[in-house]
Amino acid sequence: MSKVILITGASRGIGRSAAVLAGARGWSVGVNYASNAAAADDTVAAVVAAGGKAIAIPGDVSDEAAIIAMFDATEKAFGKIDGVVNNAGIVAHGSMLADMDIARMKRIFDINVLGAYLCAREAARRMSTSRGGKGGSLVNVSSAAARLGGPNEYVDYAGSKGAIDTLTIGLSKELGREGVRVNAIRPGLIDTDIHASGGKPDRAHVLGVQTPIGRAGTADEVGESIVWLLSDASSYVTGAILDVSGGR
Ligand code: NAP
Repeated sequence: MSKVILITGASRGIGRSAAVLAGARGWSVGVNYASNAAAADDTVAAVVAAGGKAIAIPGDVSDEAAIIAMFDATEKAFGKIDGVVNNAGIVAHGSMLADMDIARMKRIFDINVLGAYLCAREAARRMSTSRGGKGGSLVNVSSAAARLGGPNEYVDYAGSKGAIDTLTIGLSKELGREGVRVNAIRPGLIDTDIHASGGKPDRAHVLGVQTPIGRAGTADEVGESIVWLLSDASSYVTGAILDVSGGR
């Protein structure tokens, strides 16, 4: 069945992979991004080449009005939403908590926590059957850091992902009778640009060799899990938090 999906942060990395894999199923995708329009356009072209439909939608997930606008744009282009991937997220440069300033921590929590909660709220409003929705699937992108704590690098980021796990547990229970499944993926060390944005471009590879599987993961390996959770193949899965972390 064809689906209408909105993915936040889909211009690059894990979000982009999920978008292209959704396109390969013939689904229509709202490709949200923050500022890299060229990368978003490239994702749109890749989704179309894979067999789906897509539009690029700029918007910062820490801005409530931008979130509402990205849901509106997706529904205007493709019809009622069937699935949402709460993927946009950031890290900051590695630091001890004792050395973090408030501006850094506010930015992490505004984007990773408040942004994700607002996207989840909007997804609940649009997909809940009692509110006129068709039901659907919300996939939250957490992190193995929620379990590991991110010591010496980013306990702020790790805590922000802990909030995503808790959101997943609570919201899955709220929306179970609304036809909406809510699950999370906890990626481990995945080879994307996020590590360079945290000041360590090689981080996934350097630490990836220490995982039980012995390597970093790819964005597609995470994207596959996301698309499975969006699909009807996972119809009895809700409130689950799936580690895609090579055993780390
Ligand atoms: P990435 O390669 O750095 O890509 C980040 C994506 O998010 C880009 O599309 C970016 O858009 C977008 N974005 C950033 N800030 C945004 C904002 N405020 N509003 C809307 N979009 C925004 O990151 P990634 O590695 O794919 O990570 C995706 C998710 O997986 C994140 O939640 C991250 O925490 C999580 N994760 C990643 C790893 C890993 O090892 N890679 C591990 C665990 C969890 P622009 O292109 O416009 O900048």
